Amino acid sequence: MDDEMLYKKTAHELKDLLKSKQVSSEEIVKNFYDRIEQVDSKVKAYITLCKDKALDKAREVDKKRVDGQQLSPLAGIPIAVKDNMCTKGIKTTCASKILDNFVPPYNATVIENLYQNDMILLGKLNMDEFAMGSSTENSSHYPTHNPWNLERVPGGSSGGSAAAVAAHEAAFALGSDTGGSIRQPAHYCGVVGMKPTYGSVSRYGLVAFASSLDQIGPLTKDVEDMALALNVITGHDKMDSSSALIDYPDYTDALKQGVKGLKVALPKEYFEQGVQKEIKDKVLQAAKLLEKQGVIIEEVSMDLTQYALPAYYLISSAEASSNLARYDGIKYGYRAKNYDDLLDMYKQTRDEGFGKEVKRRIMLGTYALSSGYYDAYYKKAQQVRTLIKKDFDTLFDTYDCVLTPTGPTTAFKIGEKVDNPIEMYMNDICTVPVNIAGIPALSINCGFDNEGLPIGMQLIGKAFNESMLLRLAYAYEQNRVLDKNQPSL
Ligand code: GLN
Repeated sequence: MDDEMLYKKTAHELKDLLKSKQVSSEEIVKNFYDRIEQVDSKVKAYITLCKDKALDKAREVDKKRVDGQQLSPLAGIPIAVKDNMCTKGIKTTCASKILDNFVPPYNATVIENLYQNDMILLGKLNMDEFAMGSSTENSSHYPTHNPWNLERVPGGSSGGSAAAVAAHEAAFALGSDTGGSIRQPAHYCGVVGMKPTYGSVSRYGLVAFASSLDQIGPLTKDVEDMALALNVITGHDKMDSSSALIDYPDYTDALKQGVKGLKVALPKEYFEQGVQKEIKDKVLQAAKLLEKQGVIIEEVSMDLTQYALPAYYLISSAEASSNLARYDGIKYGYRAKNYDDLLDMYKQTRDEGFGKEVKRRIMLGTYALSSGYYDAYYKKAQQVRTLIKKDFDTLFDTYDCVLTPTGPTTAFKIGEKVDNPIEMYMNDICTVPVNIAGIPALSINCGFDNEGLPIGMQLIGKAFNESMLLRLAYAYEQNRVLDKNQPSL
């Protein structure tokens, strides 16, 4: 086996090699750490590595395999997770100074799921502080670079997760998506990213940003890996009161189901609002390709789309202002060194511990929730939320899926938008309606712009119908012709 190439493989390819005993998990894990050593000084996807633990675990899984024990399909495969999921004994910083030295005493449920499936955790990935941002420039550590062009952002807030997968620094990764933070970086880095239905992946142990919108999901190299990853992380969890108690399917079944006769809607509003022409063209070409396979494509109108972004920034900031009240210098992480009394300690700690964007959200959210403004802002935003959800429900009476661009532009330059929050927020225009409605959506690469930067298209589905998205994405992936397939790093 040519060792060099292991890190380039998909998780399902590695799974087959492990199963036929052509490689060991230890070899694979070592190969990934070599790769990280080779490229992460340029990409900066990782915040923390846990090499010793990972190698011990890999040897343990290899032993189980040699002993003939029954193993889960992804046993022995190396993954990495965004640094806002609690990992027992491993630092979880949320890319914030305020959690700089926080070592959780417990694992998030998704981490337990990974361990129960004998997967190997390579490390924790960079992100925008508390998942607030669209470029991973709001990290207290350093910005992550886009593997396709190191001067560009990888997107955010799960930019470390997308960059790690695109740069082959993990077989796949987990991110979190409150308003697009899995799908937008997947689009910028040319990988597959899914935000599952709200309630289908446990949020227990995910550091909360906006609890009614947050959802954990995978970023993978291809659609088959996405199905395998969902099999590991979805399911009911009694530790999360919003977790859905339903029967979760085997997502790999969806890959064989075909797409003939499925109906897909193209909402015209998603192709207007300042969407780059090349993005429009590539997404429409992808629609044509699906049409060739028997999918019925129709243009529709969703005229509430324009209200999703303001509603999102009100609701998410309101929830964030409440969730982040817990960081007071007492319970976890950082505490200011110099202060006069208890109140001053809280103030100094929060002033020194939080970055600019986080403070902006806390102020906006506190304002929107304050008496006298609550009805005008928060309540109004919640009413808009109900209408947007209804709009999707009505569409899903007729259509199986909605197809849109994932974002209006391709990856922008590092530093280009840091001083213009409104412009930064505009990146989320195509992704936030999905979180507002609580439904699933997937982004998959559908080509490149003329600077060679990846373009993603977004498939949006009915609640708990992730399988429909996998069916369409898989059919598309099997037939698409791309002019490139990986960054030259
Ligand atoms: N970019 C959006 C924001 O800053 C989305 C973030 C996310 O999904 N975590 O709020």
